[in-house]
Amino acid sequence: MPEMNVDIFTIPLGFGQCYVLKGDGVIAIDAGAPKKGMAFEHALEVAEINPHDVNLVVLTHGHWDHIGSAMEIKSLTGAALTMHQSEVHWLENSLTPLSPGVTPWGKALTALHKVFMPFIKIPKAKVDLVLGDEGLSLVDYGIPGRIVHTPGHSSGSVSVLLETGEVFVGDLAMNRFPLRMSPGLPIFADNPAAVVSSWKMLIKLGASTVYPAHGRAFPITVIERAISRAAS
Ligand SMILES: [Zn+2]
Ligand SMILES: [Zn+2]
Repeated sequence: MPEMNVDIFTIPLGFGQCYVLKGDGVIAIDAGAPKKGMAFEHALEVAEINPHDVNLVVLTHGHWDHIGSAMEIKSLTGAALTMHQSEVHWLENSLTPLSPGVTPWGKALTALHKVFMPFIKIPKAKVDLVLGDEGLSLVDYGIPGRIVHTPGHSSGSVSVLLETGEVFVGDLAMNRFPLRMSPGLPIFADNPAAVVSSWKMLIKLGASTVYPAHGRAFPITVIERAISRAAS
């Protein structure tokens, strides 16, 4: 099969960003902070993508800054929402849990975060396609790649891995102030050991370029160094 070209669009949606991938079909990865539906719509217009061409929105996990505009984006595009089974109830019941900090800075930010969480309202949305641990091939959606379950930051975190090695990891990596000054592992995680094992699996599967939800893409070598430090 000839290699399919996939265009990657980065769309800022508040605190983080979502990605839109366009191959033979179009999917989105993550749905940003609340009330970003208009920003998403405008970005599609600039990219010359018809909203109705977006067939799937992959939610990398259920934190507020990744699902906040899921309802708005779903009504704009008509796309199916998909996320891991363990966090579906967060979006369907407007819950806003946080993961604990794993570094001193992460702990300080989590404390700060808790102060403004009561002001954040997530519009509920129905999850159309519930993911199990086996993930999902994206070939039927016109994207040469798949969804892989990559727990650690949260237990239901997933990543989108393309056949070409680009991997969209949500918060399994971070690269943006105020989270991190340079790319690396997440400063919040439910299970830091699982973060490392998820990365080992992604590396084995051929991950080469990392696209975090917060900040710019970076090469996998950064992660390889970080997890060898974490192991020693
Ligand atoms: Zn998160
Ligand atoms: Zn996040």
